[in-house]
Amino acid sequence: MHEKLRDVYDEVLQRNPGESEFHQAVHEVLDSLGPVVDKHPEYTDSAVIRRLCEPERQIIFRVPWVDDAGEVQINRGFRVEFNSALGPFKGGLRFHPSVYLGIVKFLGYEQIFKNALTGLPIGGGKGGSDFDPKGRSEGEVMRFCQSFMTELYRHIGEYTDVPAGDIGVGEREVGYLFGQYKRITNRYESGVLTGKGISWGGSLVRTEATGYGTVFFVEKMLEHRDDSFDGKRVVVSGSGNVAIYAIEKVHELGGVVVACSDSSGFVTDQEGIDLDLLKEVKEVQRGRIEEYAEQRGSAEFSDNGSVWEVACDIAIPAATQNEIDEDLAVRLVKNGCTIVAEGANMPATPEAVQVFADAEVAYAPGKAANAGGVATSALEMQQNASRDSWDFGSTEERLSRIMSGIHDRCLETADAYGAPGSYSTGANIAGFIKVSDAMLALGVI
Ligand code: GLU
Repeated sequence: MHEKLRDVYDEVLQRNPGESEFHQAVHEVLDSLGPVVDKHPEYTDSAVIRRLCEPERQIIFRVPWVDDAGEVQINRGFRVEFNSALGPFKGGLRFHPSVYLGIVKFLGYEQIFKNALTGLPIGGGKGGSDFDPKGRSEGEVMRFCQSFMTELYRHIGEYTDVPAGDIGVGEREVGYLFGQYKRITNRYESGVLTGKGISWGGSLVRTEATGYGTVFFVEKMLEHRDDSFDGKRVVVSGSGNVAIYAIEKVHELGGVVVACSDSSGFVTDQEGIDLDLLKEVKEVQRGRIEEYAEQRGSAEFSDNGSVWEVACDIAIPAATQNEIDEDLAVRLVKNGCTIVAEGANMPATPEAVQVFADAEVAYAPGKAANAGGVATSALEMQQNASRDSWDFGSTEERLSRIMSGIHDRCLETADAYGAPGSYSTGANIAGFIKVSDAMLALGVI
């Protein structure tokens, strides 16, 4: 790492003890910025990089609620408003027992660069809670969301901070959050949250956008190598919103998804994942992936080993952070995988990324490959601002163009800064320059 950046990184370590995921996300970006600092001393002179590593505002709050048994439960809520140089803070809410400040900060930090890469006017932020929705009733989820919003409402707004979903937060939760916001503020402020239902201000394609966008990105990677999805074997980890719509688009484009997973294990299905069945099990019944295998003759369930041991040409990790470590990356490469595109945020460890680089695997980081979700959220905000709603086809077309633009910007920037072919260097530098130039223009704030 460049000496000036090493100082910034050391300061981040010292100021944010114990937040390993945040350290990892910062390290990955700073590690790419050496050539930028050499070319443009103004970024270090004006402390733009140091300012970028310190959130503008961090909110931590108590979320008390009463469960079905009448017991009082206490969770912790977070919203990290990281950077608003390009637009209102924008990023999802994650409800998962692993959530703590370090996770929210890593996600918020990544979101700054991802959102900048989309070219749309959105800053970066993230939030969530250590609430575990698993096994909770509808009523419990609703009461939790209402309590969460009872504090969060004072910090957000269509021009201030616009949350959306992430792991554990989908249309149902956004509905309860929006309902409570509307009730407290007495305003039908559609643009305060994205990921809404279609009948109450949502955008077509938003549900599909992260998964579809990642696959559009891979399509561009393939095109760049004069190749296509035709007959390609793909492994997608996870079976949530990102994974499901990634699988759908891979199948539409002629590839075959041969495995997917959830936190209890994985299924292999050499005939290709039956999407209707997967949606029924995961979205309607909110069941486990094992139930998919029980109902599908060609599928096998395993809770031993990893989905990344299944041979594939293309890997789309769409579960969670650090799901591919060095050993699994080696296994993927040995099994013939040549493209990795991240549908999740930071699913590959730094050691895994190094394995991909050494093996010349084309590797697209989440901040580029999964930007379609937040980009379509920005399209939802545009529709809300103009009280309009667009049809599916033209919205999907816009998403596809945005992903294609991000793909090209990554490669052009990587070329310009001496790292040809490196999507991660290109994504980090292009996102950084966009947000830093805005910060320089806005003065020391
Ligand atoms: N949570 C998603 C992400 O990681 C979407 C955020 C949004 O739509 O604001 O980008």
